[in-house]
Amino acid sequence: MHSSRKGPDRRSDVLVVGGGIIGLVTAWRAAERGLDTVLADPAPGGGAAQVAAGMLAPVTELHYGEEALLGLGLASAERYPRFAAELARASGGLDIGYRACGTLAVALDSDDRLHLRELHALQRRCGLESEWLTGRECRRLEPMLAPGVRGGLRVDGDHQVDPRRLAAALLAACDNAGVTVHRAAAEQLLTTADRATGALLDDGTELRADQVVLAAGSLSGRLAGVPAAVLPPVRPVKGQVLRLTVPPAHAPFLSRTVRAVVRGSHVYLVPRANGELVIGATSEELGWDTTVTAGGVYELLRDAHELVPGITELPLTETRAGLRPGSPDNAPLLGPTDLPGLHLATGHYRNGVLLTPLTGEVLAELLVTGELPAIARPFSPRRFSAARQESYA
Ligand SMILES: Cc1cc2nc3c(=O)[nH]c(=O)nc-3n(C[C@H](O)[C@H](O)[C@H](O)COP(=O)(O)OP(=O)(O)OC[C@H]3O[C@@H](n4cnc5c(N)ncnc54)[C@H](O)[C@@H]3O)c2cc1C
Repeated sequence: MHSSRKGPDRRSDVLVVGGGIIGLVTAWRAAERGLDTVLADPAPGGGAAQVAAGMLAPVTELHYGEEALLGLGLASAERYPRFAAELARASGGLDIGYRACGTLAVALDSDDRLHLRELHALQRRCGLESEWLTGRECRRLEPMLAPGVRGGLRVDGDHQVDPRRLAAALLAACDNAGVTVHRAAAEQLLTTADRATGALLDDGTELRADQVVLAAGSLSGRLAGVPAAVLPPVRPVKGQVLRLTVPPAHAPFLSRTVRAVVRGSHVYLVPRANGELVIGATSEELGWDTTVTAGGVYELLRDAHELVPGITELPLTETRAGLRPGSPDNAPLLGPTDLPGLHLATGHYRNGVLLTPLTGEVLAELLVTGELPAIARPFSPRRFSAARQESYA
């Protein structure tokens, strides 16, 4: 299936537009399966993964009405240990910081406790493992928790990975698998009357391919040349995040991810093995703005401090904002569009790190066989084009 022409204007089997973790995993898995694969991104390995906390938390992130997404998340979480090992081999030994540490979701007041009790009931209805703990039991597990913690849910199956290391390992794996990476942005999708045929880059290169995967994160809905009917309805959802450092003398500060809903906002603390402590995250609908604001930092520190007062002792090493690629139903868009040759891998919103292994697998299967695996079919982009046509009717 390899094409013989080389050079910037050659034709490949697959062109992936966007080299965040989703585009990179798609390109790597496609190349591994023997497809001649080219990827275009002005800053491959960048994107939201540079900001994300890296929680692999389908159980604690469960929301009403998102049971289908839960199935996808659980399937991807289950693949992580093997995926991490395969990626370590394929990247020449890079470790992605996969840590099977579990998660503790706690309540600070009676409203929070009610919210957690409801979450617990929903988790049990879905057959998920989670255990209700008293405040004292929570503090026994995590002694740095505030004395006021009123109870919590222990979820031993929700883990973490370091998204920056994941992006670096995927980039190396792409390189080793023979993916050609063009450091330029796609300016326009190239089409003939009835199919996608490649992209024109902003450095003037024309890349032709039999199949194109659009994986440009929150910018996926803005590529010129994509017919309006198949343009993905993704939008940026801003998240601000802080990074603190736990000095060796304070370790272990926390042994697992700790999270809570404080006055209606979600806050989490994710402790890495290397001493990094990630505190996140705001959720703001402000377009493509990535300014770190005093208000955002204040709210995160205030809420995290209520949960774990000892954070004020730690060095604050980084503040940053990133953009989650949000979709209308918070679930990803995976698979073929109504324009033959154009596939989507986008809209992963707050679960892109979790869904990386599964996305790579199902997209590669689609690219090789033309069939989207059954597990991904509920997430076909066509669920939105059908809705759009109905609303025009
Ligand atoms: C604050 C925050 C916390 C998060 N926490 C978690 C978490 O704990 N767990 C979890 O699972 N997920 C989390 N996420 C979500 C996760 O980070 C994203 O879903 C995921 O990184 C999206 O990856 P992507 O590759 O689809 O998009 P992006 O990371 O946005 O990458 C898109 C890439 O496309 C490129 N691009 C854009 N336009 C073009 C173009 N025209 N041509 C070529 N290239 C282009 C960009 O340069 C970029 O590299 C978090 C996100 C944020 C912001």
